[in-house]
Amino acid sequence: MKKRICIIYTGGTIGMVPSGKGYVPSGRDFKEYFPSIPDLQKPGMPELEVIQFDPLLDSSNIAVREWNQIGRTIAENYDRFDGFVILHGTDTMSYSASALSFMLENLGKPVIFTGSQIPLCEIRSDGAANLVSAILIAAEAAVPEVCIYFDGRLLRGCRSTKASSDRFTAFDSPNEESLAEVGISVRYHCSRNRPAPEGPFSLREFEQVPVGIIKIFPGIQFELFESIMTEQYKGVVLETFGAGNIPASSSGGLIPIIEKAYRNGTLIIVCSQCMQGTVSLGAYEASRALLDIGAVTGGDMTTEAAMTKLIYLFSRHEPVDRIRALMMKNLRGELTEIPDQASV
Ligand code: ASP
Repeated sequence: MKKRICIIYTGGTIGMVPSGKGYVPSGRDFKEYFPSIPDLQKPGMPELEVIQFDPLLDSSNIAVREWNQIGRTIAENYDRFDGFVILHGTDTMSYSASALSFMLENLGKPVIFTGSQIPLCEIRSDGAANLVSAILIAAEAAVPEVCIYFDGRLLRGCRSTKASSDRFTAFDSPNEESLAEVGISVRYHCSRNRPAPEGPFSLREFEQVPVGIIKIFPGIQFELFESIMTEQYKGVVLETFGAGNIPASSSGGLIPIIEKAYRNGTLIIVCSQCMQGTVSLGAYEASRALLDIGAVTGGDMTTEAAMTKLIYLFSRHEPVDRIRALMMKNLRGELTEIPDQASV
């Protein structure tokens, strides 16, 4: 029997058209593209159904509400399909893939995000190749988790980040090898797969949790960020230098602010501005203070994974101390655990 794949079309460059104001979603029914993609007519293709967002979105406009919408669409159709392909703009695809990785609990089917750097309506578009391979990977179901497929590589969604605005290889997964490479055949690395789900699939919708990302820069005036870090946000991902370092400051700098945030129940997660590697709090004096006052190490998580994981855990209404512990625990393959920090 033919496999059945659901394509959820949210928007993005793949279906955009030029306008006087730059590329915009065309609003066209995505099925109208099918006749122009010869591989979709071939007998080896699974059965395809398209569910389309209205309006279609540039992914710059995708956040919690739309992540929930994608999640609900998957949950409502979970039993009818063998896998899902999410057509999505590249700009925030890694945020959405990370969010869905957490939101879809006990996922046992592939959810493959893809899109393109050049629209299908233009010559040299990468859209058809990405779409066709993403569909076949979803149908084969060798990797039943949330992934990004782009330009020959299948990446774990919650490890991915957008690495180029103009190369066909738009995404990277700097702290984890790809889950498959696509050449003449698809080479899966099944030893890298997540363990099988422990319970029935369920959807955990996100709430509008106030979380933010602050990038440290030379000369940063921390006092300007005090009220958002201690009063307005429930969680902050701090993008620090290198292995977790922050500048010292004669006026006391960040440390008293983080202490106050800690007392107020705001979680500060320390990630790195580096594309690759891990945060190692205490390796330098410049990061030791963070460790001493209750900041949480983000380890080798991407900023995208850390931010969406915070929203996920707050949406589960866990006590703050448990959220702190779970941030250091590997839930979906997003993190390399440091054993003595991950006991929950
Ligand atoms: N701005 C577009 C989007 O993210 C870029 C893309 O799809 O590549 O929707």
